Amino acid sequence: MAIPQSALPEKSNLLGMTLPEMTAFFSAMGEKPFRAKQVFRWIHHFGVDQFDEMTDLAKSLREKLPSVAIIAAPRLMTEQASVDGTRKWLLDVGTGNGIEVVFIPEADRGTLCISSQVGCALDCTFCATGKQGFNRNLTTAEIIGQLWWANKAMTRDPSGERIVSNVVMMGMGEPLANFDSVVGAMDIMLDDNAYGLSRRRVTLSTSGIVPNLQRLKTRCPVALAVSLHAPNDALRDVLVPINKKYPLAELFAAIKDYLTAAPRDFVTFEYVMLSGVNDSVADAHELVQLVSDVSCKLNLIPWNPFPNSPYARSSNNAIHRFRAILQEAGLIVTVRKTRGDDIDAACGQLAGQVVDKSQRNRTSTIKSATNNVADQVETNGAKKSHPTIPIHATV
Ligand code: SAH
Ligand code: SF4
Repeated sequence: MAIPQSALPEKSNLLGMTLPEMTAFFSAMGEKPFRAKQVFRWIHHFGVDQFDEMTDLAKSLREKLPSVAIIAAPRLMTEQASVDGTRKWLLDVGTGNGIEVVFIPEADRGTLCISSQVGCALDCTFCATGKQGFNRNLTTAEIIGQLWWANKAMTRDPSGERIVSNVVMMGMGEPLANFDSVVGAMDIMLDDNAYGLSRRRVTLSTSGIVPNLQRLKTRCPVALAVSLHAPNDALRDVLVPINKKYPLAELFAAIKDYLTAAPRDFVTFEYVMLSGVNDSVADAHELVQLVSDVSCKLNLIPWNPFPNSPYARSSNNAIHRFRAILQEAGLIVTVRKTRGDDIDAACGQLAGQVVDKSQRNRTSTIKSATNNVADQVETNGAKKSHPTIPIHATV
């Protein structure tokens, strides 16, 4: 009697498996561990998603694999390039949801900004992703699939170096709210048989989920960025509501502890500049006090507007005044440069799609999802305008 399809085990998606997981999978099939390593390298080193292209596998294994496994990345929907070299891909993650991946080339590195969730439940008041609501966590395959796509889309440079040299978890979502999938994806990023990135070249940005920051320290300590945005609890409670659960004193204790294991000996504090809200002289002095006993760099982010928000970006004068006070106190400060704004790829401009399951919004498609991109170059904050150059669209 035929077994109904629903009773059959689903095929495993090899894209989201770490090397130890893939080794266990292959040994359950009676295959040797080196077979797992071969397939792992085919997928992540060479961007291959067809078993019959894995030419050094035994023919019998190549024929067996499609019946038990797939290699499935999110579907590529559109690809765009900015005149400044920034590139953006829209990936379909099913049921009307889309996520965007942004690549920012610079002289000495190429940074990929990736997402960890569809939407975000944390509801920071100045953030478009937060305002879109939350749909679901991305799987490990969907997170690593963003790096897999970017590497596939951009050929290696002539020296053989991968063009993506750095990854920042600064796209949609709160990575520490999707701990297991994010850590699994980071394991793959760091694996020499896959992307071989060092821990200092992978940065996780968090709004401060303290218990999971403690777990990250022992499980996979990568470079850390923390979304601070306010110099005291009263204001942070409003801008970053998770602060009510994990206030500044707890957050700072966790950061200091994290730095004992981190690959860089400082934390980067992100501070979005909101006119008349957190950008006064008094705010700057209070911020100096707050960060005085932690090894840090400050990254001031000119706020990127989105529709129906009560906020406005701080003026250039206010940003310069704020930065000067921090610098006079001896802090290292950068102002994030806006990149890729002609293709809506700058902070707060990404056009993901979120079907909100939290019922906070009834909207299904919203212009502007996130956040951004670790671009730590000094700028005067001026926004340039360029024509859009779509490269190609697959739908
Ligand atoms: N959830 C994580 C990571 C994604 S957000 C976090 O909050 O850290 C990446 C950065 O973009 C955060 O510092 C976030 O506060 C900031 N951001 C969000 N909305 C923004 C906007 N409209 N303009 C500028 N920066 C924004
Ligand atoms: Fe979520 Fe980060 Fe946006 Fe806050 S700033 S709502 S944590 S994505």
